[in-house]
Amino acid sequence: MTQNSALKRFLQRDRVVRGLTNDGHFRVGAVNLTNTVITAQERHGLSPVAAVFLGRLMAGATLLSSFLKGEERIILEAMGQGPLKRVYAEAVQVGEVRGYVENPQAMLDFSTDTSLGDALGLGLFRVTRILYNQFEPVVGIVELAKGDISTDLAYYLTQSEQVPSAVMLDVSVDDEGKVIKCGGLIVQAMPGAPESEIVTIQDNLRNVTPITDLLGVGYTPEEVLRVVIPGEYRETNHARVDFFCRCSVDRFKSILLSLGAEELTSMRDLGQTELVCQYCNERYDLPADEFEALIEQARARTN
Ligand SMILES: [Zn+2]
Repeated sequence: MTQNSALKRFLQRDRVVRGLTNDGHFRVGAVNLTNTVITAQERHGLSPVAAVFLGRLMAGATLLSSFLKGEERIILEAMGQGPLKRVYAEAVQVGEVRGYVENPQAMLDFSTDTSLGDALGLGLFRVTRILYNQFEPVVGIVELAKGDISTDLAYYLTQSEQVPSAVMLDVSVDDEGKVIKCGGLIVQAMPGAPESEIVTIQDNLRNVTPITDLLGVGYTPEEVLRVVIPGEYRETNHARVDFFCRCSVDRFKSILLSLGAEELTSMRDLGQTELVCQYCNERYDLPADEFEALIEQARARTN
């Protein structure tokens, strides 16, 4: 492999970059999440609109998780009366992200005067942080502001957490509805940042070329940041990101075990021994003898 193609492959990986502007006024983040969202669409068999929303939500979760530490996690959920019903994304700071759409086949009829926000309709946006120094998850809920995820996340951060924020999340799809690119960007004002500057950045974001177009012509997350941020910034961290779910056969066995012998026996009698992970759509089908062993184990526990 030539050095050039190695470099190219490195640049095409899904990566998140975070930084701080040199004047200390803003923390910034950018992500290329293309491969992750293509994987999510394949795993869950997502319709175009479902893929767009899950991709945006995963990009938002990944950006926020990049500001956390170690195994700290963030969960974003958007739920509404529209056809998608509920979209869920969860990201760990170490670069793992997973998620699903409650109605993966959701469609939106653009022949009427439908806007993208109608896919969620009226509803709620919930942010959950699982942090080292907090005994309980930290949860915040707001009404959906626009139902396009970018605006909703910015609204949540600005209103609920009192951190003026600009967010841009984007997924492009081809004529057949397959994901081409997914990218995202976040800018958050640090305490003491002049308000006029955040307004300038918000204006920049409204007028900038879509991130998916920039990624399409080969921009890295670092280069995307340079387009949007006026002035210089220094990178404080960068990490690879993958679609990753921590489910496993052993994890499923322990969940089954917790159901108890009676429930397991009726599952076996109904032939319901296949399990599907909600988060990644992985299928686990326990062989009959292993399922029997599990029932025995559950019985032994209650005796
Ligand atoms: Zn899973």
